[in-house]
Amino acid sequence: MDKRIELIKGDITTLAVDAIVNAANTRLLGGGGVDGAIHAAAGPDLLQECRNLNGCETGKAKITRGYQLKAKHIIHAVGPIWYGGHRDETEMLASCYKSSLEIARDNKIKTLAFPGISTGVYGFPKDLAAFIAVNETKRFLQKNKYPEKVTFVAFSDEHFETYSKLLD
Ligand code: ADP
Repeated sequence: MDKRIELIKGDITTLAVDAIVNAANTRLLGGGGVDGAIHAAAGPDLLQECRNLNGCETGKAKITRGYQLKAKHIIHAVGPIWYGGHRDETEMLASCYKSSLEIARDNKIKTLAFPGISTGVYGFPKDLAAFIAVNETKRFLQKNKYPEKVTFVAFSDEHFETYSKLLD
């Protein structure tokens, strides 16, 4: 495995990294899944900062502080809803990872953690999403010094296995 890429199974809200990525929606005002868990753990000041961001387009990302999280920052990335694969979903998801990595680089973030963006309620196939996540990240790390280290956070054993096959 690439020394700058790590895989863990667990809850992304507990990680003491420079930034965690949130699988947000276009309104950036919280939601279910990992988004809800991040807002709950970060506290209400996060919502206040998010209100000033005026939402975010699908395939893009925006950064906030981490508030009560151990993570210093949160990069809110908006993944695509899976409609079957004919609505540019793969390009949008790739763009989501790339935008998050660019924001991390521009803010000199050393350690960054990603959840499986779009693989929950948004219904993106987990194996294809993991392939895109790993591919975009590897390409970006080859060309950039920051982030120094990227952690993929799997929330289930199945998701962990999907990533580990790609990272071997
Ligand atoms: P989306 O709407 O982008 O699909 P979800 O939050 O529904 O976002 O799910 C994204 C992924 O995050 C799913 O694979 C889900 O299992 C995972 N997930 C949910 N809660 C957490 C958490 N606390 N830490 C890490 N991953 C999580």
